[in-house]
Amino acid sequence: MTLHFYDSATAKVRPFVPLEEGRVSLYYCGATVQGEPHIGHVRSALAFDQLTRWLQYRGLEVTSVRNVTDIDDKILVKALENGEQWWALAYRFEQAFEDAYDALGILKPTYEPRATGHIPEMHALIAQLIERGHAYPAPDGSGDVYFDVRSWAKYGSLTRQNIDDMQAAPDADPRGKKDPRDFALWKGYKEGEPLTASWASPWGDGRPGWHLECSAMVTKYLGTEFDIHGGGLDLRFPHHENEMAQSQAAGHGFANFWMHNGMVTYEGEKMSKSIGNTINPREMLELARPLVVRYYLGQAHYRSVLDYRPTSLQEAAAAVERIETFFHAAVARLFPGGDFGVVATVPETFAAAMDDDLNIPAALAVLHETVRAGNTSLAQNDDGEALLALQGVLGMMSVLGMDLLDPHWQDNAGSGRENAALDVLVKAQLDARAKARADKDWAASDAIRDTLAAAGIEIADSASGSTWSLRR
Ligand SMILES: [Zn+2]
Repeated sequence: MTLHFYDSATAKVRPFVPLEEGRVSLYYCGATVQGEPHIGHVRSALAFDQLTRWLQYRGLEVTSVRNVTDIDDKILVKALENGEQWWALAYRFEQAFEDAYDALGILKPTYEPRATGHIPEMHALIAQLIERGHAYPAPDGSGDVYFDVRSWAKYGSLTRQNIDDMQAAPDADPRGKKDPRDFALWKGYKEGEPLTASWASPWGDGRPGWHLECSAMVTKYLGTEFDIHGGGLDLRFPHHENEMAQSQAAGHGFANFWMHNGMVTYEGEKMSKSIGNTINPREMLELARPLVVRYYLGQAHYRSVLDYRPTSLQEAAAAVERIETFFHAAVARLFPGGDFGVVATVPETFAAAMDDDLNIPAALAVLHETVRAGNTSLAQNDDGEALLALQGVLGMMSVLGMDLLDPHWQDNAGSGRENAALDVLVKAQLDARAKARADKDWAASDAIRDTLAAAGIEIADSASGSTWSLRR
C-alpha cells in the first residue's frame, strides 16, 4: 500500500510517509467554544475521524490532538452580554460540541487540550520568538506582543501569498504594530475585561492570541515536528499561516503535511443566519437518525464542498436503508439460528480508493456495488457469494465509522436483543388494541395507547396495520 494525501502547503498529492515508522502524529484545530456547534465544525471533526480510522486500518498508531479554544474575544463579549462567567459559557458550549461529536460516533482525539491550560508553554514560545528577533512587545505600553511578519521571509508561503497583498491583522490596536499585518501573540489586559481572563506575563498581564495557542499545544503533545496538521479550509489564512510562521520562526520543523477539509453550503450558498439558510447538527439529528446524519456528512470527498439541500437527509436515509436491508436479509438467510459470526473484510478496490487521498465517494461506490451484488446472490440462492458480500459490507461500514453491529447506531439506542424483546411485547399490546378496536371497545383501546405513550412509545396506524417507534 502507498498512502497518498493532498498537501495544501505544496498543492500536490504526494506519498504519505510518517516521520516515525508505524506512528502518525495528527493535530487538527478544534472549535472556539463561543456558541452551539455548526455543521462545518462537525464535518471537519468527521473528516479527521475518517482519516484517523483509515490510518489505523493501515496499521498505523495515531496520536491525535484537537484543541479547545476556551478564551477568545467572542467568548468574553458573549459572556458579558449573558451576564455569566466567560469560563462557564466556554464550558457549556464545549459540552455541546462533545454531545454533537458523540451522537455521530466521532472518535475522541488522544488529547484534547484547552488553551487556558497552556499559558506557560505560550510564554516560553513568545520568549523564544523575541530572542530570535521575530517578535516584539508593543512600544505603546499596551502589554501586547506581536509577531514581526517582515522578519520572516517565508511568511505567506503556506497560502502562497505575497506579504504586500495580505490583509491587515485586525486582532489588536494597530498603533503599536510595525506592520499592520503583524499579529498578536499576547494581548495586554484592557480596562473592563474580567480579571479572571488575564494572566501575569513578563510583558504585562494579558491573554494569549489565538494562533499562538495551537503552536504551543502542538509542540507540547506532538513535538516540534509532526506528520499532519489539519483543519477547515477557512482556517488556512490567517490562522494556519500564522501558526506555521511563528513555529518555524522559533526553529521548529512543524507540520509535514497540511490537510484542509471543504466547507458546507446550503443549496450552493454560504450558510448565514441573516439569510436564514442554516441548519445545525442538533436540527439534523431531529430530522434523521445519527447514522444517517453521519453518512450524509461523511459521503463527499473531504476536500469538496458538501452542499446541503432539504432532500439531502432523505437521500442519505435511502442509501443507509439499502445497506441495512441487505445486511438484515443476509444475516437472516445465512445465520437463521441467530449465531452470528462473520470476519469483516475490506475489498481491494475500496482500500485503493481510501489510499488515494481518502477518496470516499469512490469507496462508497464499491460499498454500494457490493450491496447490489449481495442482493443478487441472495436472490440466486448463492450463499457463498452472499457471505462474501456481507463480510465486505460489514468491513467497509466499520472502517468508515458506521459499524452495523455497533449498538450506538441502533434505532432505539438499545442492543439488538433488547429491541427484539421490546418488539415482541409492544406487538402483543398492538394486537390487543387491534382486537379492542374491532370489538368497538374504545375504552380498552385508548387505555393501551395511553400505557404505551407513558412508556414513550408512539403508534402509527395505517391501512396495513400499526407500527411503533420510540418518541425522540
Ligand atoms: Zn489552530
